[in-house]
Amino acid sequence: MSKLLEGKTALVLGVANRWSLAFAIAGAYRREGARVILTYQSDRQRQTVEELGEELGAERIIACDVTQEQELEQLVSTLKKTAGKLDAVVHSIAFANREDLSRPFVETSRSGYQLALEVSSYSLVAVARAVAPLMSEGGAILTLTYLGATRVITNYNVMGVAKAALEACTRYLASDLGPGGVRVNAISAGPVKTASARGIKDFSKVLDGVAAKTPLRRNTDPEEVADTAVFLASDLGRGVTGNVIFVDAGFQIMGL
Ligand code: NAD
Repeated sequence: MSKLLEGKTALVLGVANRWSLAFAIAGAYRREGARVILTYQSDRQRQTVEELGEELGAERIIACDVTQEQELEQLVSTLKKTAGKLDAVVHSIAFANREDLSRPFVETSRSGYQLALEVSSYSLVAVARAVAPLMSEGGAILTLTYLGATRVITNYNVMGVAKAALEACTRYLASDLGPGGVRVNAISAGPVKTASARGIKDFSKVLDGVAAKTPLRRNTDPEEVADTAVFLASDLGRGVTGNVIFVDAGFQIMGL
């Protein structure tokens, strides 16, 4: 059987460790024959991401803090010289202060709100603008969101607001970049135990609650998220843009 991403080059932002959803996605992209380039946020993650990159057979590992415009410019200039073009870009990045993910939402500080929105939502706009010139033959941009964008999830708080903005950004970017053949979509993943998720107070209760109530009676496997990411980056996803696709074992359909 031919591989779904043969001949494609993908940039994956957001690998911190082997539990990162971005790591599962990068692995699935490699399995399907894509060339993969990884980024890491800061020197603190460099060694781990380099080791994981080697394990995956990544072409290149590049530093990129998405809040730093010059690091994005540097990333693009390195990619222009090395990869030449990109077919897929994965934005798997979010951050909020820990205290904003445990106290009542109404207590969110101005600076905490700005930080969460800048890192978790605006960065998609900044990344899309930076990489679009490398997608002159079309391509697929993907981001990761969560049900807390549209429903109140205890302790998700300002991150829910950031994800609502992220989903709106996905639609506006899909409209802007669509004429150039670039598709922009989001996967809304069910809860998965990662470093970011552990920052949310009582996250294990969320996992237990979801597993008990969801139609498939289990939690989401990162590999399931990764396989949907393959579909969206592949030619099979060519008609899909501006969408939020739930990969959550069905949890979002449930009422009482
Ligand atoms: P993770 O902690 O492994 O990944 C988050 C990544 O964001 C890390 O690699 C971190 O370095 C990166 N990051 C944060 N600030 C950055 C910055 N300024 N510049 C560059 N990178 C930065 O956790 P994860 O759960 O794999 O999160 C990936 C995405 O998936 C996030 O958008 C998250 O909200 C989303 N998501 C996670 C879940 C879940 O339950 N784990 C569910 C739905 C959506």
